[in-house]
Amino acid sequence: MSKQATCPICGAEQRDHLVCWLCVGRHRRALSQISDLWGHLIEAVRRDTNLNVRVGVKSVGSEKPLFFAEQAARLRDEAQSALVGWVRITCEDQGIDPPADTIPAICGFLQAQAGWWRKHEAVTECVAEVASIAHRIEAIINPGEGRVPVGRCIHVEGDVSCPGEMQAHLPRDERAPAFIRCDTCTTEWDTTQWARIGRMVS
Ligand SMILES: [Zn+2]
Ligand SMILES: [Zn+2]
Repeated sequence: MSKQATCPICGAEQRDHLVCWLCVGRHRRALSQISDLWGHLIEAVRRDTNLNVRVGVKSVGSEKPLFFAEQAARLRDEAQSALVGWVRITCEDQGIDPPADTIPAICGFLQAQAGWWRKHEAVTECVAEVASIAHRIEAIINPGEGRVPVGRCIHVEGDVSCPGEMQAHLPRDERAPAFIRCDTCTTEWDTTQWARIGRMVS
């Protein structure tokens, strides 16, 4: 075997051209992270929807889509179809049965199949996509508190618009109030003002 062989993902030198075991380990951890955070992602979509219903923003019909829930819902759908796609390839190539149609089952299945994936021609694509999904879910759902980017800050000081970004903060504890805050000017808005903000940033 060539001594110049490297891992196609991290470039580490090794004895074969397959994905190295460190990268396989990182891939497995990304899958388990998706599985662990999935419930929180679904919760963010659900709670956002509830909050918008409470402040009277319509979520159906000709109205604009919900601005808070939008990102989380889009990520949920994108992640689901990507993971299902990798499962389909795994099953078709090996002639094996798919796992149950839930994200934890799918992630567990792909974790178990990570060793087989090492040799697959699409492995770098699969690993990169899974890592990106895990990273984006974590960015929306950070520990202790869900945060959803809302858009450019609407605060104006004199004639100058704040250049900051507003974030919706959704505390894990449902009894704690949700609020929007700009990290630059630190202005906060409570949920009663969300519909107005939604109209201004949409
Ligand atoms: Zn590697
Ligand atoms: Zn601001």
